[in-house]
Amino acid sequence: MEPHPAATRFAPFGTTIFTEISALAQRHNAINLGQGFPDFDGPEFLKQAVASALGLNPSSHTSTANQYARMAGVPALAKALAADWSTRTRKSIDWESQVTVTSGCTEALAAAMLGLINPGDEVILFEPFYDSYRACVAMAGGIARVVTLRPHSSISPTITSTPITTFAFDPEQLAAAFTNKTRVILLNTPHNPTGKAFTHDELALIARLCLKHNVTAITDEVYEHLVYDPTSPHLQLATFDGMADRTLTLSSLGKSFSFTGWKVGWAIGSAALNRALRSAHQFLTFSTCTPMQTAAAAAIGSAQGQAAINDLVAMLRTNREFLTRELTALGFNVIPAAGAYFLMADWTNPACLAGRLQSATSDAHVCRLLIEQAGVAAIPASAFYQHPHEGQRFIRFAFCKRNDTLQQAVARLQSWAAHTTAPAPTLAGHKA
Ligand code: PMP
Ligand code: GLN
Repeated sequence: MEPHPAATRFAPFGTTIFTEISALAQRHNAINLGQGFPDFDGPEFLKQAVASALGLNPSSHTSTANQYARMAGVPALAKALAADWSTRTRKSIDWESQVTVTSGCTEALAAAMLGLINPGDEVILFEPFYDSYRACVAMAGGIARVVTLRPHSSISPTITSTPITTFAFDPEQLAAAFTNKTRVILLNTPHNPTGKAFTHDELALIARLCLKHNVTAITDEVYEHLVYDPTSPHLQLATFDGMADRTLTLSSLGKSFSFTGWKVGWAIGSAALNRALRSAHQFLTFSTCTPMQTAAAAAIGSAQGQAAINDLVAMLRTNREFLTRELTALGFNVIPAAGAYFLMADWTNPACLAGRLQSATSDAHVCRLLIEQAGVAAIPASAFYQHPHEGQRFIRFAFCKRNDTLQQAVARLQSWAAHTTAPAPTLAGHKA
């Protein structure tokens, strides 16, 4: 018998798909379009701000920031987040009681669940979901009620040959998921892995259901700045009628500023919701890495920060268009992404990659073939589902990579499809 088995609450979750795929990618020198992390650094001014906070910048006269931070976050960062929130939503909030800084959005998700959920409470999730959601519900002793987002055809007067345009939920299925045990609904917009941005009508329905059933909403908005249609800006559930006091909005620095390793996240909402989250946060991490928080304050709501976001969005938009076009040319049915930096690609067309996937039995099998034989890593989408069969048709590609990385990945797929020898691997894999 194993002397120290993991607690049974983690038995269904195994090792995260990101760790698994990145390790496999590294073993086979595959280009990693699986785990969503940029292969380039974020803005220089933020690196300099960390150096100053650490006391490494000789020209800096600021005091160092190397000891524990305030439990709820370094004041400069909490103030910057509150000011930015007020500018964007036209509702002012109190930086001391309504903002909590966490160790990435991952910790904010866990602290929110642990702080709000009692054993037996129900939590509504949309599948596919970011993989930590279900584990967080389980850690809190909650019960996940899952509503499925499915590819939805919309008839376009100009594009008649593309049957699938976006992922959507069935409003009746959502309404039926609310019961007298529902405590929280957790949603992610823009959405990982589908690239979906929840529409105004969808958010309005969610708001109505939350009010009707006295439910708290937790919104994961880590991709809030990564939206590609300038005529459809990011929508926040917290700004819908009646939702300001019942929504906890989570985000982080990682995606907007391409420093996923810094792990600075935050939660914004009413003082009561922040108190609930802090009751867990104080015992999970107590506080978040002080120099990183201090530097992050320079990014939030500043002109330099906004310029960096604009540059990133322009680059990602080009990448999205390139990868969508090339994967489509290779026979994948790619669902257009409105936001975030992932593409869901249906591999089940028999002509996909010139028929080389015809023997594949699952999305996981496809990903293994691509990593081992083509030298390109993607994520099997079924890992993001409670009902894995719903995701079997898809694999997820990340496009938060340098354009030449994407070009090399496409060249490898093309040459594998053409049965020729793939170009020699030149890029190192990523350590998970
Ligand atoms: N939520 C979603 C939807 C994500 O894609 C990620 C990124 N891994 C996270 C949360 C975690 O964010 P962080 O890296 O800030 O912990
Ligand atoms: N958010 C990233 C993704 O979806 C990965 C985060 C992680 O590795 N935990 O790929």
